[in-house]
Amino acid sequence: MTTIATALLSIVELPYAYDALEPYISAETLHFHHDLHYAGYVAKLEELTQGTHYATMSLEEVVRNSDGAIFNNAAQAWNHVFYFEQLAPHAKHTPEGKLRHAIDENFGSIEELKRRMTTASLSLFGSGWVWLASDADGKLYIVSKPNAGTPLTDGLTPLLCIDVWEHAYYIDYRNQRKTAVEEFWKVLDWGKVERRYEALFM
Ligand code: MN
Repeated sequence: MTTIATALLSIVELPYAYDALEPYISAETLHFHHDLHYAGYVAKLEELTQGTHYATMSLEEVVRNSDGAIFNNAAQAWNHVFYFEQLAPHAKHTPEGKLRHAIDENFGSIEELKRRMTTASLSLFGSGWVWLASDADGKLYIVSKPNAGTPLTDGLTPLLCIDVWEHAYYIDYRNQRKTAVEEFWKVLDWGKVERRYEALFM
């Protein structure tokens, strides 16, 4: 089992070059977001968990079993790996297969899902995350969470997330969260989201 100690010693690198998501997300944003914000949560978590029983858990177990500062830093570490991993320079723009079927069934259309998630991102006051998540039966939910919140603690499986902390977009879009979220969809790789959903049924 991967323990948090090993997970923390190696920051998960971006699966693409820093400038690969331009012009939608700049290299400068990714340098700040990955190398300072994400890495900062990992460093803080390491400091907080050293010598505690959390040090023998996986990162996901820490997220599920902690609160306070340890939860905040563990969840932010987990959320950011998940966030970076779902983006791609040559993203698949439309979901297909099982996921497409579930989206149509739960929301009517992919456009309606994106519209609702964009609205949820704009309605979330302050910092947080907007998630698409699935229950064990494959039913889909849009989940808005403040701060480090994640649907993992609701017993749901996360499928995709929008980071609506200002640090995710302020360099490129200043206070224009709406534009930032509209541009986010252009680099979201639905192929990745499909694989996350299909893994539920394997
Ligand atoms: Mn972030």
